[in-house]
Amino acid sequence: MRRVVCPGSFDPVTNGHLDIVARAALIYDEVIVAVLHNPSKSALFTVDERVELLREATKKYPNVRVQKFHGLIVEFCRVHDVSAIVKGLRAVSDFDYEMQMAQMNYNQSGVETFFMTANPLYAFLSSSLVKEFAKYGGDVSGLVPDPVLDALSGRLSPS
Ligand code: ADP
Repeated sequence: MRRVVCPGSFDPVTNGHLDIVARAALIYDEVIVAVLHNPSKSALFTVDERVELLREATKKYPNVRVQKFHGLIVEFCRVHDVSAIVKGLRAVSDFDYEMQMAQMNYNQSGVETFFMTANPLYAFLSSSLVKEFAKYGGDVSGLVPDPVLDALSGRLSPS
């Protein structure tokens, strides 16, 4: 079984993330989307909310499952018998950090990292940009799945 993991914060999941997950699901037998729980980093959505939004957005892919994790992704890979990490690369600005992380992960565990180039339709997209625009009334429909749109308007609406 060729099982890979797509790790990230997904705060919240965007169509750019989903594009990578869907393409990975065509190539590998199973894709685990691993949602990082990092209590020291403030997030708009709790890790359980992020997991729920991802489950909703990926339910049409039978070989994709979503789980939260904390700590090292290589430890998650060991426990879940995952042989490789799949990451999306949007631009050269992603590359330096991702290459360093991939080499460290390989050094620590032998887990490989495969990079997929971002779909040009979504290469400009990040969760932080979506939150920033949504917060000030920007239209992010078409950039995130519908449940995320609803969740954003609920979370960011003026109180
Ligand atoms: P971000 O907050 O930048 O969206 P995440 O940690 O949630 O970051 O991203 C997880 C992974 O998804 C990273 O490998 C990142 O490069 C990739 N990714 C994020 N946005 C996109 C996108 N628009 N297209 C392709 N890959 C993406």
